[in-house]
Amino acid sequence: MLNYTDYFSATYMAARSKFRQAVSGVNGKIAHYVHPDALGALGEVLTIDVAHVGNPQGSKQLVMISGTHGLEGFAGSALQVGWLYYLAKASLASDVGVLLIHGLNPYGFSHGSRTNAGGVDLNRNFIDHSDPPRSNGHYEELHPYFSPSRWDAVSRSECEAATTAFRTKHGEDAYFDAFACGQYLFPDGVCYGGTEATWENLRLQEILTSFIGHAEKVAVIDWHTGIGVHGRPFHLVFSERDSEARKQTSNWWGDQNVNGALPNNRVQPNYKGLVFRGVEKFLPNSTVAGGVVELGTRGPIAADQAIRQDLWLRSYGQHLSEDTRSQLHTDLLDSLNPVSYLWRELVLKNGLPIIKATTDGLTNW
Ligand SMILES: [Zn+2]
Repeated sequence: MLNYTDYFSATYMAARSKFRQAVSGVNGKIAHYVHPDALGALGEVLTIDVAHVGNPQGSKQLVMISGTHGLEGFAGSALQVGWLYYLAKASLASDVGVLLIHGLNPYGFSHGSRTNAGGVDLNRNFIDHSDPPRSNGHYEELHPYFSPSRWDAVSRSECEAATTAFRTKHGEDAYFDAFACGQYLFPDGVCYGGTEATWENLRLQEILTSFIGHAEKVAVIDWHTGIGVHGRPFHLVFSERDSEARKQTSNWWGDQNVNGALPNNRVQPNYKGLVFRGVEKFLPNSTVAGGVVELGTRGPIAADQAIRQDLWLRSYGQHLSEDTRSQLHTDLLDSLNPVSYLWRELVLKNGLPIIKATTDGLTNW
């Protein structure tokens, strides 16, 4: 039986230590990339930690990322650590390597935020910033209600009424798309993709190019939390219909999971600037399959609320009382990294077989 506390951690520092410890038990190359100007919540140096195991020269490589959305990294970190302990007693096919990237957004991981030190949603940052999207669709009309200038009961009621009216008029799918697809105009808004490639973006390019630039076939698992049923995986795949990458991914993760399921019963937003798009761009000689795997927490409304809480804390946190700030932050943390052992055991039980299915799938690709 898995003892979840061996894999999950209470802080970014502990998670990084567990990752480094687990890497030391297997043969592999390691590297650390130090954040140039931000420190962690405990004053610690922030790093992206990388381990490359299996055959580093293999033509098939799995890239497994935790912490793209900062605090969501606790689950991804636990799965990376759990898989490394599994690997210490198992082996990979001779032409397969696995590149583990721990804490891609270490600032958010340490500070308990989805975004980086500049308030950028890293999973919307991988666009061509010389030619950003011209339209932000419905986002502009909703922005004042996602990011109100005050945070009190009256303001919250007004925002709730406005967003409910939008949902009634345009439907739940349009609301989800406006909320989540990514926007490039409002730095104080949700899912803000920034104006240039962030430090994390540039490091990912450096890591992929130097470690697996030679690979022909690449699988991606970018671990996230918040979408789906409590403790259950939800697969978000972005490859074209009928593409080789999508066909492979369906084989590994299940056709219904990849092509038939809707995220929190809503149509998948037209996401812009995903890490997955970055991987495709940085590895121009590879066929890139896989995508995001989410672990569900509280369902749709609570996940949206968590993203807004994150924003409010960033925008008005200094104006809130210590007690209010603490309550909001604790709720945000529990929304995307539930404390309960029930959830954490489900993450390990449901997540580890997905990694095995992916490496097996790569072997047979
Ligand atoms: Zn996420």
